[in-house]
Amino acid sequence: MKWEPIIGLEIHVQLQTKSKIFSGASTVFGAEPNTQASSIDLGLPGVLPVVNAEVYPRAVAFGLSIGAEISRVSVFDRKNYFYPDLPKGYQITQMDKPIVVGGSVQISLENGISKEIQITRAHLEEDAGKSVHDEFASSTGIDLNRAGVPLLEIVSEPDMRSAKEAVAYARYIHQLVTYLGVSDGNMSEGSLRCDANVSIRPIGATKMGTRTEIKNVNSFRFLENAINFEISRQKAVLESGGHITQETRLYDPTRDETRSMRSKETAMDYRYFPEPDLLPISIDDEYIADIRKKMPELPREKAERFVNNYQLTKADADTLAFDPIIADYFEATVNICQDGKLAANWVRVEILGRLNKDTLEEKIIPVPSTELGKLLNRIKDQTINGKIAKEILDTLWSSPTFNLDEYIKDHELEQLSNSNALEPLIEEVLKQNPKQAEQFRQGKTKLIGFFVGQVMKETSGKANPQQVNELVLKKLS
Ligand code: ADP
Ligand code: MG
Repeated sequence: MKWEPIIGLEIHVQLQTKSKIFSGASTVFGAEPNTQASSIDLGLPGVLPVVNAEVYPRAVAFGLSIGAEISRVSVFDRKNYFYPDLPKGYQITQMDKPIVVGGSVQISLENGISKEIQITRAHLEEDAGKSVHDEFASSTGIDLNRAGVPLLEIVSEPDMRSAKEAVAYARYIHQLVTYLGVSDGNMSEGSLRCDANVSIRPIGATKMGTRTEIKNVNSFRFLENAINFEISRQKAVLESGGHITQETRLYDPTRDETRSMRSKETAMDYRYFPEPDLLPISIDDEYIADIRKKMPELPREKAERFVNNYQLTKADADTLAFDPIIADYFEATVNICQDGKLAANWVRVEILGRLNKDTLEEKIIPVPSTELGKLLNRIKDQTINGKIAKEILDTLWSSPTFNLDEYIKDHELEQLSNSNALEPLIEEVLKQNPKQAEQFRQGKTKLIGFFVGQVMKETSGKANPQQVNELVLKKLS
């Protein structure tokens, strides 16, 4: 049977604040265990939480960036459960009235296709502590430095249909929250973690299958592997006549598999109720307008502007606008060469192609945009052709400091577009290949490529290919 995977993600984003969501304790990563846990984080009796106002603008900025509704009133709730890393016996989160409701993002998939992913909600909550299992022989340690770290949990609709789509969505959220300064996005430090809900159904079915939830995945590669493993596992279970139990699973990267952790609690088990120690959060229009004013241009807006200002295709615009470093680089290049389409082509194909696409986080482009701009100017004014320009870019890539014009002169890379110089060459090539010339005259016009290729070879790639094309056609007709 053919199956369709269905995936929805819950992404926990650590909000970039100096202190915790309900206490003044520091959130700096890497401190000695339990040195950054105040009496509030420890859940001691007689202390009361106070909301760190720094979390509001971040949650609101995120909500605005995805076109969501910002709740004018939102409410904190208690989610009750027992776990050693949760000393209060409950987590403060938002259940019925989250701060961000709805919204959507546009993700780019392969081949320039884009897809809209709906977001259900995003709510504020506190992180739990951490159990430390590997440091003590016969006991488990508890580190409460993370307890009370502010999180925004972003819940998507089950709109993804493959592990690749889920990763594209997670990457987009990662890029967006870092771009907005909502989070530092540092995944190895736990600043962004994904829970992946996965189910499958027969293709054509309308009812969704039972899902499992893979908890706490903190790398894009693990996310893709975990989802793919889970899809295969569910297929195997269903195809052998079994059924999927709704449960929480953990991904083990060393064995590349997911394992059952616990069966899924229902919402009832958590006995949610409004947090009595905190007032509802009120946000007014003026506050929202103020944050909107301070927001940087968003990738989606940037892409629209690229389409309008530079006549790019939507797919090209999306690709270039996705990452602020690439977007700025592209615009700086356009500034020099005054040709949006040419610059877009070169940045997308030649620059992005040379960068390792998987390390988008640490992008360093060795060739300054000013140099790429100059190089494109030399193409535009016909000093060099595109092929030579690519070779020069290769050289610039490894040693970005030389004078382009001198380099072109010293290496005699100027394009040959003097027809007086080209014509004898072309005649020679036609004379050397009488059979092909005859076939061309009899209608095998595809052979034009062959002749142009021969002339290009004769000129070490320096001829103006368009002009050669025209001249060959003239001579053969
Ligand atoms: P819970 O509150 O138990 O976590 P939610 O209804 O809030 O459950 O859904 C959590 C996540 O699971 C959401 O991202 C949602 O899109 C996703 N989801 C819900 N049903 C399915 C399903 N059948 N298959 C895959 N994902 C699902
Ligand atoms: Mg959940």
